[in-house]
Parts: sequence; structure tokens; C-alpha cells
Amino acid sequence: MKSHDGMYIAGEWRVPVGRDAIDVRNPADEQIIGSVPAGSAEDVDAAVTAAREAFPGWAATPPAERGARIAALRDALAARRDEIAETITAELGAPIGFAGAVHADLPIAVAGSYAKMAAEHSFEERIGNSTVLHEPVGVVGAITPWNYPLHQIVAKVAPALAAGCTVVLKPAENTPLVAQLFAEAVHAAGLPAGVVNVVTGLGPVAGQALAEHEGVDLVSFTGSTAVGKRIGAIAGGAVKRVALELGGKSANVLLPGADLERAVPHGVANVVRNAGQSCNALTRMLVDAARYDEAVERAVAAAESFVPGDPSHPDTRLGPVVSAAQRDRVRGYIERGVAEGARLATGGPEAPEGLPHGYYVKPTVFADVTPDMTIAREEIFGPVLSVLRYEDVEEALHIANDSVYGLAGAVWAAEETEAVAFARRLRTGQVDINGGRFNPLAPFGGYKQSGVGRELGPHGLLEYLQTKSLQL
Ligand code: NAD
Repeated sequence: MKSHDGMYIAGEWRVPVGRDAIDVRNPADEQIIGSVPAGSAEDVDAAVTAAREAFPGWAATPPAERGARIAALRDALAARRDEIAETITAELGAPIGFAGAVHADLPIAVAGSYAKMAAEHSFEERIGNSTVLHEPVGVVGAITPWNYPLHQIVAKVAPALAAGCTVVLKPAENTPLVAQLFAEAVHAAGLPAGVVNVVTGLGPVAGQALAEHEGVDLVSFTGSTAVGKRIGAIAGGAVKRVALELGGKSANVLLPGADLERAVPHGVANVVRNAGQSCNALTRMLVDAARYDEAVERAVAAAESFVPGDPSHPDTRLGPVVSAAQRDRVRGYIERGVAEGARLATGGPEAPEGLPHGYYVKPTVFADVTPDMTIAREEIFGPVLSVLRYEDVEEALHIANDSVYGLAGAVWAAEETEAVAFARRLRTGQVDINGGRFNPLAPFGGYKQSGVGRELGPHGLLEYLQTKSLQL
């Protein structure tokens, strides 16, 4: 895989101040496929300086012209769609079909949506004798994770650019190659130097330096709740804006009249997708006692239809998880589930058959899970489903809401109106009704400890704007 040994700062690949490097490994065969520089605080400082210098010019660029540059960025990404998919398959382990259809196509669509929004959004409104201006917040420090590596970059950078902000991006250690490819696309799109800068590096070094930098006006972070809390505290201490997209433990509530034949395989596929590494994965399936055994049986059959294998093969639907650390973490949770008394209905902590190498985890379904168990409370981030039993609808609601998280959820019922009525009582930022599909324009973000702020669509644009009122 192609990689740069420099940092993309002020429109060029600069020699980094930091001497260290980060090796990138293919999780399917554990081989090193590239290396990127580990940026230091000095590298972050150079990038923030470039972003600050570029800010006045970019903020003053007419929104329609900003939109045209974002459209050029979308086109530059679209032209390299297959390369994006191959890169993400190589560094994340996502199956190639899914990598193309989701990891590449989704961010290309999101970039397109912000190209249009930049041109069409009204950056001014009138309230009584005031004209209210919607102005860019300033320099954005974007810190992104590895699980949807390009999507999470574009979900921050595209609205920031549409708003008139400039950006310093610190991508995840495990997936820096697609971030470098993104920087190349930024360059090809002709964005002015310094408008987007990319500093690869370790979270506690480069990430922390970016969050703490005085020249950053807004920190937008996606990742674990533990790091999110630290970043929130740093931003709070400096009175800077912050957006946090954190973890989840989302409930998939199958109400008594739900069509189990559809709902159960749909729910299992949701959990196994991306090897379970989705913050909005529906990892708690709630089923009424009367049909509990049937649901578990269906879940086992659905999970066993996902055979782990080489993600570069077009037929593969379940690849490895991203790293050895992540594999060990997921297997540790599976062992904990067994130790706490849940019934292992399929899967388990051992390596899948025939795959001694690579960071593979068996698709796993736990039955007889109670709400107090660790596997019902903590985000596992692997292909592991917990099936819980409820006696009546009020208990289902209580279990669903009994979480520190509130990112997503799903409700299935015989009637859509019944599912919607239940969804209104869920304390989460998104709910899919009877298998409703992902909408890249709908606001995405969490209640409770799942985060602060919203990404995507017009709500995502507002995160990067602040208002100024002129009284006339
Ligand atoms: P993480 O939170 O450690 O990393 C996310 C990003 O934050 C990376 O770019 C990382 O370099 C950076 N970072 C780490 N420490 C930092 C610090 N002190 N200051 C500033 N930036 C810092 O997540 P991870 O270790 O990659 O994954 C651990 C767990 O987090 C996963 O198992 C999963 O449960 C969760 N996770 C959630 C999401 C999500 O989308 N909600 C995404 C990735 C991981």
C-alpha cells in the first residue's frame, strides 16, 4: 500500500518534526503494509498555524464557491472509489464488497450532500430588527476513529468546509492510509493551502496536543467514551466548542407482534456488519418471553450464516476485527459473558476454524442475558449479540433505556404506529422502525453518554456555525 512519510500541512507533504513512525498492519494476515509518521506536538502546532492563516480567506469565500470546492473533493474521492475500498479492506479488514458499498460510497455521498448544502444554505436570517449572521466557528480540530475511517473524516471535514471553517485532522492510528489518500484528494480538489491539514500520530500525543491547542476553536471527536470524556473536559476548561460522537449499546426491541422471520436476521446482520465495529450496532436484542426461544433459534441460524474469512474475497461478509488488541478485548467479553452465566448459543472465544492467523472472532450469540450482565451493559465492538427476555412492553422499555448510552435503537412491531409510539419513549438519538434504512442526511448523534452534538445533514452543518446578531 502506498504511504507518505510526511504530514499534509499548508498544501504540501512536509517532513515531520517527530521522528517516530506508526506501522500499519493488515488484520487479515497480520503483515505490515505501510508506515506513517507519528506526529509530535510541534507538527500539530505547524498544522494549526497553517489552518489559522487559511481561515480568514476561506471564511470570506462565497458559500457557492466553497460548495464547488467540496464538489471537486467529492469527485476526487469518487474517481478513486475502488482504491479507497481496497485501502480500507487492507487496513481495517472490512469485506471488500462492504468496503465499496459503505466505506467508500457513503462518504462520497456525504461530501456531495455538503457541496449542495454549502451552495443552498442561508447563512443569514432576519429576526425582528436583527439580522442574524451564521458565521464559521474557526479552526476545527478533528479526531477520528478507525471503524468507519473515511466516513468519520468526511462527516467532520465536509460540513466544516461548507461552514467556512478550516481543519486539522488527526486520524486513527490503525487506519492512517485512507486518511493520507483523503489528503491527496483534498489536494487534487484544489482546496487552498492550509484549509485542510492532516497530522498522523498517536492519540495521547498528537490527538491530545490538537485538543489542547489554543488555536483550535472547536474539537470534534469520534471514538471511545473514555477518551471523549477527557476531550470534553479539556474543551470545557478552555471554553471551546466540542462535539463528541461516542459509544453505544443500542437496543433492538422486537415487540410482541413483530415479524421475527424478518426482524431477527436483520438484527443479526446489523451486529455482524463491519465485524461488529459500529458505534450504532444493535447489540441488545429484546424479545418477549412467549417467542424468546424462537428468536434465539433464528438468531443462531442467522449468525452461523456469516462465515469469517479473507476480506479481500468478494464473497466474504465477515472479516477480522481491526487489531490484536481489539480481538483480545472482544474475546475477553465473550469469556466474561460465559463466566457471568449467559448461555453461549453460538460462537465463542476461540479462533474460528481454519483461521489461525488474523484477528478473527466467531460471530457469537448469547441467550439468557440479564440486564445486569457486563455483556448487556458495555460496548463490545465485536460480532457479539446479547438476546434479552422481557415479560411485557413496559419492561422492554425499561430495559432498553437502562443504559448509560443513548446512540441508536430499533423497534419492530406489527403496526408502524405502534413501533413509532414506542420509539418516542426511547432515550436515544436515532431509532429505526421495522428495518428503516440508514439516512445520511438525518442527524446522527447520541443522548446521554453517547455524545454531544449531531453529525450529517443540515444539523451537522450547524455544529460548525456560530451566530452574530446585528441590531438595525
Ligand atoms: P479511542 O477513543 O482511543 O481512539 C479514537 C481517536 O482518538 C483516535 O484517533 C485516537 O488516536 C484518539 N485518541 C486516543 N487517545 C487520545 C487522547 N488522549 N487525546 C486525544 N485523542 C486521543 O478509541 P480506540 O482505542 O481506537 O477504540 C477503543 C474503543 O472505543 C473501541 O473498542 C470501541 O468500544 C470504542 N470506539 C467507538 C467508536 C465510535 O464510533 N463510537 C469508534 C472507535 C472506537
